[in-house]
Amino acid sequence: MTKKPKDGVQWQPDPVGYVALSERGLKMVNRILAKCDLVNRGYTDTDGNPSPCWEWLGGNSGNGDGAGRGYGRIKIDSQVSATHRVMFSCFHGYLPPKRDVDHKCHNRICCNPDHLESVTRLQNMNNQKRHK
Ligand SMILES: [Zn+2]
Repeated sequence: MTKKPKDGVQWQPDPVGYVALSERGLKMVNRILAKCDLVNRGYTDTDGNPSPCWEWLGGNSGNGDGAGRGYGRIKIDSQVSATHRVMFSCFHGYLPPKRDVDHKCHNRICCNPDHLESVTRLQNMNNQKRHK
């Protein structure tokens, strides 16, 4: 299980199933984690253990009605990216631009890599319909 680092302690992600974090990746992950709160939203891992959401406290894409609302945003090298996409690619590897990252916990602000999965746009749209 992944854990949030304590203040001042460099985080060592669970190596099992994760790609090795590059120096840049680790920097980004730590930047995101520094602004996340661990909140238990009832999501459980595959063993049925509670798995808290890592809720991004920084800026997000707003509260409008659009499909892209409510996702965390972070500026990296003057480019604005979605926090969950950054987290996903740091932990699970390269994410092709055409693939979406779906929240298995249905919490858009969540950055916990264990709660994210890569899906095609079509799968994601079908998932959203199912959970409306
Ligand atoms: Zn979550």
